[in-house]
Amino acid sequence: MIDFTFTDEQEMFRKASREFAENRVAPFVPEMEKTGKTSPELVKALAEAEMMAVTIPEEYGGLGLGFVARLIALEEISRISVATAMMLQVFALGIDPIVRFGSEAQKKRYLPPLATGERLASVAVTEPTGGSDPAGGRTTYVKDGDGYVISGRKCFITNSHVADTITVLAKDETNPKAFSAFIIPKGTEGFKATHEEHKVGMKGCNTGELTLDKCRVGAESLLGEEGKGLRVTMSAIGDVGRGGMVGCSLGVQTACLEASIKFANERVLYGKPISALQGIQNKVAEMKIDLEAGRLLAYRAAALQDRGERSSNEFAVAKYFTTEAAQKAAKIAVDIHGGYGCMEEFAVSRYLRDAFVLGPSAGTSDIMKVIIARWVLG
Ligand SMILES: Cc1cc2nc3c(=O)[nH]c(=O)nc-3n(C[C@H](O)[C@H](O)[C@H](O)COP(=O)(O)OP(=O)(O)OC[C@H]3O[C@@H](n4cnc5c(N)ncnc54)[C@H](O)[C@@H]3O)c2cc1C
Repeated sequence: MIDFTFTDEQEMFRKASREFAENRVAPFVPEMEKTGKTSPELVKALAEAEMMAVTIPEEYGGLGLGFVARLIALEEISRISVATAMMLQVFALGIDPIVRFGSEAQKKRYLPPLATGERLASVAVTEPTGGSDPAGGRTTYVKDGDGYVISGRKCFITNSHVADTITVLAKDETNPKAFSAFIIPKGTEGFKATHEEHKVGMKGCNTGELTLDKCRVGAESLLGEEGKGLRVTMSAIGDVGRGGMVGCSLGVQTACLEASIKFANERVLYGKPISALQGIQNKVAEMKIDLEAGRLLAYRAAALQDRGERSSNEFAVAKYFTTEAAQKAAKIAVDIHGGYGCMEEFAVSRYLRDAFVLGPSAGTSDIMKVIIARWVLG
């Protein structure tokens, strides 16, 4: 049976997420746009609303609500602030490898403080050598007694300067085919957040570089099996990272549609609102079609994920579709606003800048097509 309705609990969670976004997140947006900095008060608000606990199992202090719930929260928060949704989505991305691959000791140590927001997570895979080719990375590790020494540089890492519990992918210096993942707490000697990026959009969501300079970690840092680190990190990016970008994109699409409807009903030309013009109606209809289609793709993938089934291919389809649709919706929304669309007072100019940042994160549209082609061609 296919049932496209949300449960009462999910509807309540959506309502609560919307209220949270409108009342607690929206006030931070002007400051984030101005400074480009992550507000610690906003992180605190997310933690108080238990937003970091959504995907963490109850036995480790989380809410255990799953990935449909997470998508609901991201959609609602992104409708108000994509930057905040992006930050939150990557907290969950950083949590996922520990939930799926962590030892009991690692789960007990890290998950309860990650659920309360006392600790904040991220995943560092991308390097200056190219994010589309993670196996081409040059960050390496060598065994050193009962631990490892890691050296290299990671770039474009979300929450680089905010997170303190980071899963880092590194290559075995003696075997370039073997990668391992390590949980590295901030404060570990030789591990530093360095350059902070200034993005065109998603201002207030921190992105930057991490350097590892002969960073020594104990054996307890190894996450999952030694030599199987690509699976640990890429499965998190495939399911949770892509799923998160989908949530962020749907929020942008919704915000663009709502702003366009409002403006089209208020702007009067030729003696009537421009919403009466068929050319404008077609644009609004296109945005609605893309939003409806995107939501179906997104929630189908998240429902599979909640059932414990493979969802990375479905998320690749949804990620391709929704990030492209968000960019299209933002361009249409700016167009509908005429000259006002180019003015900073109108949020649609922010949506356009934010929408373009959705593209590369968790894999570009080209890479989504590579994944989808591999899926269908076998
Ligand atoms: C805002 C933001 C947040 C991010 N957060 C994180 C994070 O938290 N952690 C992390 O590890 N990474 C993160 N990334 C990095 C992101 O995953 C990479 O930017 C992405 O994978 C692309 O890598 P690249 O930028 O090096 O581009 P490249 O890999 O150099 O790609 C350059 C171009 O080549 C194209 N291309 C590459 N391969 C193919 C192919 N096979 N066929 C056709 N075209 C191809 C690409 O589509 C792109 O157009 C983030 C990026 C951004 C922008």
